[in-house]
Amino acid sequence: MNESQGGADFSRYILDRMRQLEERNLSLREQKDRVEGEKRVIENQKLKFEREARKLKSELERLRVGPMVIGTVIDVLDESRVIVKSSTGPRFVVNISQFLEGELKPGVQVGLNQQSFAVMCILPSPKDPAVFGMEIEEVPSEQFLMIGGLEGQISEVREIVELPLKRPDLFMKVGIEPPKGVLLYGPPGTGKTLLAKAVANSTEATFLRVVGSEFVQKYIGEGARLVRGLFELAKAKAPAIVFIDELDAIGSRRMDGATSGDREVQRTLMQLLAEMDGFDPRGEVKLMAATNRPDMLDPALLRPGRFDRMIYVPMPNKDARASILEIHTRTMNLDPNVNLRQVAEMTEGACGADLKAIATEAGMFAIREERNVVYQNDLERAVFKLLVSERRGESKEVLSHYA
Ligand code: ATP
Repeated sequence: MNESQGGADFSRYILDRMRQLEERNLSLREQKDRVEGEKRVIENQKLKFEREARKLKSELERLRVGPMVIGTVIDVLDESRVIVKSSTGPRFVVNISQFLEGELKPGVQVGLNQQSFAVMCILPSPKDPAVFGMEIEEVPSEQFLMIGGLEGQISEVREIVELPLKRPDLFMKVGIEPPKGVLLYGPPGTGKTLLAKAVANSTEATFLRVVGSEFVQKYIGEGARLVRGLFELAKAKAPAIVFIDELDAIGSRRMDGATSGDREVQRTLMQLLAEMDGFDPRGEVKLMAATNRPDMLDPALLRPGRFDRMIYVPMPNKDARASILEIHTRTMNLDPNVNLRQVAEMTEGACGADLKAIATEAGMFAIREERNVVYQNDLERAVFKLLVSERRGESKEVLSHYA
């Protein structure tokens, strides 16, 4: 009895011991998994820190390198040597660093080691940031159908600018050169820029617009450099339409005894003339310009081969005003009784930009009165506000009476 009880106690002891050992085993395994996880995290961190250290070391090395001299490649002699002209003046035959990436060609700007003058890197082509600062639109969204009352001007522009870009073969066959430049002239706000943008849209060309006065720079020679940069950029982005607004700012008649500022403007003009002369009329870059003062322009600009086609963009007449109003109210929620012809009659002397402003202001009257329909009365009040009272300089009280 005693013996069998002793045996049972022993086997219970063994079972307990085994359970304890299993639990211990389990917890040790969990501990091992945890430690392995931590080890992985630490290894990842180590890799990250090593990468960061390498980056910092190379940055440090980069910062330790002395400044490079800027040079221009004049000629490539063989695979390892080129002739360069350093920015300080003299020419040198120099070696090419074996780590250099890219192809060396005459005219390319390079960075040279200060001591050995070896070519270390190729510099990006010197595009002028000021030129990039101009208005550039990759294919503007304006279309011919957004222009009111300028049918004759549209067909002329299409013939002079669009046709040579779309069908250069026609000009080749007949053996004539298309006009180089088109000058749009007329009062402000009549749609000259709009016309140029619409041609760019129909020819899927990049539109580069620069205002003439922006060329007139503070530093001597800058204006001419900007003109050069503009044409280079246009060639790089071809097909392109270059549009110079306010051409009179650089293209005014040259006069004797001018001041140094005037001489700078003249230098810019000379550069523009030179660029136009070197321009391929059958190429993919077309030049358009606009001015309100064609009488002020230097006759050299209007000679054949330059801006030899002039298109007058007049103030809109009654019919044109009605169609411009129609265009700018197309997306508005107009009351069916609105009579745009009547509004056109009231707006004698308004340009396209005024008519656009009238349409917007009429919409504003509706919004102010929490309506979503625009009535004839809104348009009439807008005409009064923008054309009559503002021009006469009416007092605020009179205005508020109508508003
Ligand atoms: P500026 O000589 O002052 O540069 P511009 O003749 O180039 O003026 P735009 O800039 O083309 O005038 O016109 C200004 C705005 O007026 C345009 O964005 C357009 O909304 C409107 N506009 C002008 N003329 C017309 C037109 N004929 N048809 C439709 N909208 C027009």
